[in-house]
Amino acid sequence: MTLTTWAGNYAYGAQTVHRPRSVDELRQVVADARHVRALGTRHCFNDLGDGPEALVLLDEIAPDVVLDTAARTVTVGGGVRYGALAEHLHAAGWAVHNLASLPHISVAGAVATATHGSGDRSTNLAAAVAALTYVGPGGELRQVARGDDDFAGSVVALGALGVAARVTLDVEPTYDVAQEVHDEVPWDAVLHHYDELTASADSVSVFTDWAEPTLRQVWRKTRVTSSYAPRTDLFGGTAAASQRHMLPGIDPVNATQQGGVPGPWHERWPHFKLAFTPSNGDELQSEYLVPRRHAVGAFAALRDLGDRIAPLLQVSEVRTVAADELWLSSAYGEDVVGLHFTWLPRQPEVEALLPTIEAALAPFDARPHWGKLFADVDRDLRRLYPRWDDFRALVARVDPDGVFRNGFLDRHVLRD
Ligand SMILES: Cc1cc2nc3c(=O)[nH]c(=O)nc-3n(C[C@H](O)[C@H](O)[C@H](O)COP(=O)(O)OP(=O)(O)OC[C@H]3O[C@@H](n4cnc5c(N)ncnc54)[C@H](O)[C@@H]3O)c2cc1C
Repeated sequence: MTLTTWAGNYAYGAQTVHRPRSVDELRQVVADARHVRALGTRHCFNDLGDGPEALVLLDEIAPDVVLDTAARTVTVGGGVRYGALAEHLHAAGWAVHNLASLPHISVAGAVATATHGSGDRSTNLAAAVAALTYVGPGGELRQVARGDDDFAGSVVALGALGVAARVTLDVEPTYDVAQEVHDEVPWDAVLHHYDELTASADSVSVFTDWAEPTLRQVWRKTRVTSSYAPRTDLFGGTAAASQRHMLPGIDPVNATQQGGVPGPWHERWPHFKLAFTPSNGDELQSEYLVPRRHAVGAFAALRDLGDRIAPLLQVSEVRTVAADELWLSSAYGEDVVGLHFTWLPRQPEVEALLPTIEAALAPFDARPHWGKLFADVDRDLRRLYPRWDDFRALVARVDPDGVFRNGFLDRHVLRD
């Protein structure tokens, strides 16, 4: 059976797929391969995870969750899904700081691409990594921990530095979150009060198609304290009277509980429930992250393209992400705003439009999400990442024979 991305839009071309049952078996797979790439849950939309020879999935290796309450960390197998880890952590009284819109993705796969949730003070998921154990090109184990030289280059690593067999994440005591949805919030809230809007909750997602006269929905998630009270009005938008899905025609039963009802963090940070298909399934995605200081300019540029974007779009989501220090992170060095697109599954038309969107966002230093569709026509991502050359030097040092190289890395990152 051909292995494809979750969306089915890309068929992996590698000849062999390995599913080792232990870290020792994984080490043997890597040691025996001339070229090998790790795969997580295949929720990327491009060929980032593919390889010219062998792929290795970690989903048959036991998660082996090790919670260290004194150090406030949890160590898990890299193939574990956030949703499974979250249930374990919550049952033990612990939590991570944030989650992406879906809990279905693997920890190592999400970290490798700087996957993020939302929030002015919430860094992306990779920023919670305290240590990683990689299987290196010869099958050897190599540990990197916060504070080590090169650690900041080794977390958002696009699979280029080896297979992350174990990942250690920061944890904190468990907490509750409440989620509210408002309909028909005026554009004015985003164009003139964006800082106030995003500061109004711990996580704020704005949904639009860039052409509508008002924002379709605003989803706000708040860590619950004794002073928490749901808002009726939001800059003139009204509190949704019932459960919502951000995509037209999709049953809102798939979405996590709304209406300001407090619940465990892992049942509110993601938009989608673990037991259901996230989003639509029949879709493509792109995302560009711009420095926050450029947010309003970038919104205006996308609204100018609204008539071209909307016919291909299911919905766009706008979120904030706090800065981190990870070299290839889309939030490296500066707070950013994520401009996400859930497209209709019309890939040739979407790919034809991406260069136009990228040209419109170029003045705002937009970094594409590594795991989603982008064009990068001028092959010029280097200028967006101050530590770009350091990352390339790190890859050359750790993997001199290119065991973990693939077409994506050659095209966008490692080409001379
Ligand atoms: C419905 C949907 C919703 C999404 N929502 C969000 C969102 O809210 N925020 C966001 O930022 N992104 C989002 N994404 C994108 C997604 O989170 C990222 O593409 C993420 O990288 C997927 O993780 P994965 O486990 O599926 O990784 P894969 O696609 O399997 O792999 C991604 C990369 O990680 C590498 N990798 C995987 N496992 C390992 C390992 N063990 N060691 C080393 N490298 C490894 C692969 O080689 C590849 O380079 C969404 C995607 C979908 C389909």
